[in-house]
Amino acid sequence: MKRHVRALVIGGGVVGCSVLYHLTKLGWRDVALVERKELTAGSSWHAAGAFHALNSDPAMSRLQAYTVALYPELEKISGQDIGLHYPGGLNVAATRERWDLLRADVARHQTMGLNTHLVGPSEIRDLCPIMETRGVLGAIYDPMEGHLDPSGATHAFAKAARLNGAEIYRHTRVLALKTTGRGSWEVSTDQGVIEAEHVVNAAGLWAREVGRMAGVDLPLLPMEHHYLITEDLKELTNAPRELPVVVDLDGEMYMRQERRGVLLGVYETPATPWAVAGTPWDYGDNELLPPDLERLTAALEKGFTRFPLLHSTGIRKIVNGPFTFTPDGNPLVGPVPGVPNYWAACGVMAGFCQGGGVGLALATWMIHGEPEGDAFALDVARFGDYATGAYVLEKAREFYSRRFRIAYPNEYWPAGRPSRTSALHSRLVARNAVHGVSYGLEYPLYFAPPGAPAEELPTLRRSSAFGPVGTECRTARSHGGILDASSFSRFEFTGPAAESYLNRLLAGKLPEVGRVRLTPMLAPSGRLMGDLTTMRLSAERFLIFGSGYLQAWHMRWFREHLPASGASVRNLSIDWGGIAIFGPRSRELLARVTGEDVSAAAFPFMTARCMDVGLAPALVARMSVTGELGYEIHGPQVYMAAIYDRLASAAVDLRIIDVGMYALLSLRIEKGFGIWTREFSRDYTPVESGLARFVAYDKPDFVGRDAALRDREAPPARRLVLLEVDAHDAEANYLEPVWSGDERVGFVTSAAYGHTCGKSLAMGYVSNHAAAGQRPLHVTIVGERRACRILGEPPIDPTGSRMRV
Ligand SMILES: Cc1cc2nc3c(=O)[nH]c(=O)nc-3n(C[C@H](O)[C@H](O)[C@H](O)COP(=O)(O)OP(=O)(O)OC[C@H]3O[C@@H](n4cnc5c(N)ncnc54)[C@H](O)[C@@H]3O)c2cc1C
Repeated sequence: MKRHVRALVIGGGVVGCSVLYHLTKLGWRDVALVERKELTAGSSWHAAGAFHALNSDPAMSRLQAYTVALYPELEKISGQDIGLHYPGGLNVAATRERWDLLRADVARHQTMGLNTHLVGPSEIRDLCPIMETRGVLGAIYDPMEGHLDPSGATHAFAKAARLNGAEIYRHTRVLALKTTGRGSWEVSTDQGVIEAEHVVNAAGLWAREVGRMAGVDLPLLPMEHHYLITEDLKELTNAPRELPVVVDLDGEMYMRQERRGVLLGVYETPATPWAVAGTPWDYGDNELLPPDLERLTAALEKGFTRFPLLHSTGIRKIVNGPFTFTPDGNPLVGPVPGVPNYWAACGVMAGFCQGGGVGLALATWMIHGEPEGDAFALDVARFGDYATGAYVLEKAREFYSRRFRIAYPNEYWPAGRPSRTSALHSRLVARNAVHGVSYGLEYPLYFAPPGAPAEELPTLRRSSAFGPVGTECRTARSHGGILDASSFSRFEFTGPAAESYLNRLLAGKLPEVGRVRLTPMLAPSGRLMGDLTTMRLSAERFLIFGSGYLQAWHMRWFREHLPASGASVRNLSIDWGGIAIFGPRSRELLARVTGEDVSAAAFPFMTARCMDVGLAPALVARMSVTGELGYEIHGPQVYMAAIYDRLASAAVDLRIIDVGMYALLSLRIEKGFGIWTREFSRDYTPVESGLARFVAYDKPDFVGRDAALRDREAPPARRLVLLEVDAHDAEANYLEPVWSGDERVGFVTSAAYGHTCGKSLAMGYVSNHAAAGQRPLHVTIVGERRACRILGEPPIDPTGSRMRV
């Protein structure tokens, strides 16, 4: 056994072996893997082995498509038979709502590069003659779905890695991890000590335990899962083709052919967590859990109704095995915040759909310093300390039971709520606010009319929020609005080196003292890392504001670049809150609650100052994403309720009202302002996203400068545009494609009805030639094409005069 390696992967399941292979594929040779028993001894050996690329998140879908396409190559490289079958797959809908979701999804798949199409009941019967199609409206057909031998696939990754020089030590259990003080890890195993420059936690069912060895609690939990395999069906004995993999979206179950029988798996409700307090070290080595068919009765009945032949077919084998779930079902990948050179590749719920892509993403990150494209959906830094054991238990249970549900874009699942609430929360609930949740924090979406239920039903079409949001938007533009803005992130940078540090970290110019600037932040690849708002309060003190759910992600980045001395960063996001006021009467409102001069001359646009608001000390910035005259009031949460109370009572006769985030999103799109995740993300560059105007290309040095200059030289193939859509009863949705004739020329990033301009609006990336061309454009909304046109300027206040008054 080597005593020193560049990277040591802990865990020889499909994920660990894939990470090992990809590290060698991208050029690292001095790498090893330790496995406490035999390869596959965790959850990998008893998987059902089904794979597909379908996922509602584009990054996850990219990762899965890579995994699925890799298998034939992997078989060739390793010489290992992995029992590959590509019979295709059907995702079946038996209700009108689900059929709508599938129609919308198939359009989004085109944007994601997936080759799926819709099929009707008769085609379904041809593809899967044993299925009862009564009540079925249709299905998505995906030709790339299939299944494999899980053990073969895991060994194929291991063999391919060994061929590239990696070493694998079986029957070697990691007992403890210790930092060496040289940036590396001392890994104690039951076979001796190994020093590793990098450690990868791919310990699957034991990832929590291997996390705790480095002092981190990883948000994942094993859950029990059953599938059964039937005796041979005579209907399949001489069948001309293999049955497709079938997922019944209404039945919460999946089915595929296994030799001449079928394999049926169910995601029953309630879900059964396993080993909540910790995974026993003596579990494994081809061990299964005792089956509990009683628990599955309801789910199995649905399965037998969909496949009636199964009523009269014997069961050959029942498998009940555990595998890990995270609160949102996506893996935990990347550098673990605050633990240098400790990497996560765990929480992988669908190792045979995702393992290849997880391996590639992590190896790219470790070797090149950043993953390719936007990997936030799988980044271990998307969770914060709100993801406690109790939270993970509730969310993982919920995710398991809704495994095959497609979430509506306006849907916020109920488990694990409320967890974090702002100081205004109970006041806003009393005013009939409907809340959403982000990073564990409740935030108001809109205010339901008095007497109406404070609840928005999930839908792809305009919801019951449409009317109230319209009132909020119109009132905000005519008088004003007050918004709980606690869901922003807030960071404080201080010290003599804070200026030079931020100058290098941010791609934009830093503001003068007392001023505010929008400042993009870039990765070395020149892709966006943030669209931040920077305020300078003194020569050595800056406050930076961003999206609340990115706070651990941004903190990791800030800390990675922090100099050894002279500058420090503090995350104020939990301790501080914020209230935004905006609209033509917002100045008068602010004047009523402060003794300070807030006239246009004394408090100009894009400036910030510390002042009393009501009784409280606060930091007030004159800016608003609504495009109106507006102010953001920030300060410690303990003051926010008192500030709100003063504002709310002073607002009554000014006819300024409470508004929620839906109104803000509508008001900002009327101004053509983009937001993070949608218009801005690691997938885009400053030029194509329109943020180049905030990049200070003349600064001598900043992270991503070389790539940003190259981006500026080479005109991008696409650009961000604002579209007016001839919508009917639904706005466009994220990733719905934009067409010029039959050519797909772009996609939607976000959309909202513009209540004050009376237009359905969307933002999206469109190819330059389509944007410049004369041909009419269309966007697909819930499966139907709607005409749309690019707006040369935003429909509201194109000169920006209203926010500058
Ligand atoms: C019944 C069932 C059906 C499934 N069906 C499918 C399916 O059809 N398709 C699909 O994609 N996924 C499926 N899955 C999920 C799939 O099995 C998992 O996603 C996958 O196995 C996870 O792989 P892993 O490498 O992350 O973890 P694991 O397979 O658990 O591997 C972790 C490894 O780490 C080792 N290890 C842990 N701690 C240490 C230590 N301290 N030192 C050394 N080694 C250590 C363990 O021994 C283990 O071998 C199914 C799961 C179950 C239970």
